[in-house]
Amino acid sequence: MNKNFTYGKIIIAGAGPGDPDLITLKLQKALSQADAILVDRLANKEIWQRYAQKEAIILDVGKKAYSCSSTSQKEINELLIECAAKYSLTLRLKGGDISIYGNLTAELETLKAHQIPYELIPGITAASGIASYAAIPLTARGIAQSVRFVSLNPQTTIKEVVWRDWAATDDTLVFYMSLQNIHQLAESLLQYGANPEKPMALVLNGTTSAQKTIITTLEESSKKDFSIYQGMPGLVIIGKVAALHHQYKWVTEQEKLISIFDN
Ligand code: SAH
Repeated sequence: MNKNFTYGKIIIAGAGPGDPDLITLKLQKALSQADAILVDRLANKEIWQRYAQKEAIILDVGKKAYSCSSTSQKEINELLIECAAKYSLTLRLKGGDISIYGNLTAELETLKAHQIPYELIPGITAASGIASYAAIPLTARGIAQSVRFVSLNPQTTIKEVVWRDWAATDDTLVFYMSLQNIHQLAESLLQYGANPEKPMALVLNGTTSAQKTIITTLEESSKKDFSIYQGMPGLVIIGKVAALHHQYKWVTEQEKLISIFDN
């Protein structure tokens, strides 16, 4: 490569949880300047349809959890290098916030290794967006002291000591990428001594017009059939705060279940 060659800049930005109005002004500005945009499956397409330049190249690099039909991290890393070589500004858009279950380091390592200049822009993570749109204050005074963002997916092994802690805590537990394992989650918590009446919220398609909130308990959810929700983005919130939804909900949700990926 030519000695005077310099790569263009890559901005890695969080697109928020779904509602296109939940993006930062900084992202809006980046969208209006980017030559190419690499987008995730969870980033709402309305966002770039509204704010990107007409000529911008849109590259869909959506990753579907545990699916072979999605773009691998290796392919995404290669695309980032290619784009940085071709364009002066490339925007890499990720769902929610980039630092939460966003595989950020894999991409940063690639950029560092090639000395590609970059900038990072935060986004509203699913837990924050849903806390507002489903009216579930994550640390309500007197109810939950703190909140933990965790995950239970087929790639993680949870130690017994952690299960015991999760079962006993009054902290709010927010489970990302765990819809597939929701039964195992409820059953294991019960097995390790959690209160069967402990409230649990499952929020699908959070902050979008297809948001659906289901409030249940650990006991009830261990017997419920959640198969119709598989494949949709879903967040599981466990703790007493989940029941506050009934008291404070303000978003009118549709009866019919639709997936945000269908439209
Ligand atoms: N970086 C993202 C999380 C990516 S991991 C963030 O900060 O939000 C993907 C997981 O996030 C999904 O499996 C789901 O658990 C959760 N998620 C993301 N968007 C969501 C939405 N709109 N509604 C419900 N859950 C969502």
